[in-house]
Amino acid sequence: MSRDAELKEIINDLKNYMEFQESMGVKSVHAEKAITQDSPPVVSEKKERGTEPMPKTTTAIDQDIITIEGPADLFDTKVMTLEEIREEIGDCTRCRLHEGRTNLVFGEGNPRARLVFVGEGPGRDEDMQGKPFVGRSGQLLTKIIQAMGLKREDVYICNVVKCRPPNNRTPEQSEMDTCEQFLFKQIRFIKPEVIVCLGATAAKSILKTKDSLGSLRGKFHMYSGSKLMVTYHPAAHLRNPHFKKPAWEDMQVVMKELGLPMPKK
Ligand code: URA
Repeated sequence: MSRDAELKEIINDLKNYMEFQESMGVKSVHAEKAITQDSPPVVSEKKERGTEPMPKTTTAIDQDIITIEGPADLFDTKVMTLEEIREEIGDCTRCRLHEGRTNLVFGEGNPRARLVFVGEGPGRDEDMQGKPFVGRSGQLLTKIIQAMGLKREDVYICNVVKCRPPNNRTPEQSEMDTCEQFLFKQIRFIKPEVIVCLGATAAKSILKTKDSLGSLRGKFHMYSGSKLMVTYHPAAHLRNPHFKKPAWEDMQVVMKELGLPMPKK
């Protein structure tokens, strides 16, 4: 690989990494001189009273080192298991969605799944049963998973918000801001090869973008080492069958990435 191409690849990786850090709440970064064999190790001079210096993540680029600083709550803590995440959520009252819930819908499936589906939030059936995607949209999602040659138990299915929004309205930004940390922790534990965002809400939460679903779908984005595909929510197929074809095309891209056999035409 040429030096230019190598540099481009490093810059691209760094861009993806920084976008991921930002999505995790990192507020600032600063560049320091590189550690070289004859320079002393970099030590942060910033130290709050009574606290130890923040552990640093460093990425070397040519002569500079980018130091990640900030709250980065997730990175300062160990990777939590799904059981630990569920325990942390507890009998949640962090946002007002808890007021109308029957059951909190944490997510279900294979904790070692190669593929994770992320929806918006539970609907009526999910709220009643405490399981994601079990209503009409869920039945369609199950069919899509089966058409991919998989079973529901092979994948992991969860949502951005864990409690049903009243009348199935879209979750408000503040509700997503409160709840999405648990989704990020679930993904961080599962480390899937591919994430499929079902609909714009999931895409907005994970990719922190306002871009339209139409412009996001059909290609992979990167999220923390996983390839991420945005596609139409099954509820959209139920409202308008025209969404089925492009959504199936998106799933075929996912299948190819996972090395799943394509169904014969
Ligand atoms: N729609 C979603 O986004 N999630 C569910 O769990 C069910 C319907």
